[in-house]
Amino acid sequence: MTEKACKKCNRIVEGDVCPICGDSSLSEEWRGYVIIIDPETSQIAEKMGVETSGRYALRAK
Ligand SMILES: [Zn+2]
Repeated sequence: MTEKACKKCNRIVEGDVCPICGDSSLSEEWRGYVIIIDPETSQIAEKMGVETSGRYALRAK
């Protein structure tokens, strides 16, 4: 299955709808990713506005 990235929150999604936003505007063109394990203590998560653990694309078109 092709992994896509949510254009809104950059979440990497295996499916057609972002589980975070409930949005279906996903991009197949994304670069790199970070794994957020503990959003409450992660500076990356804070910068990206991420509140849920998981994988997030660094850039999504
Ligand atoms: Zn999203």
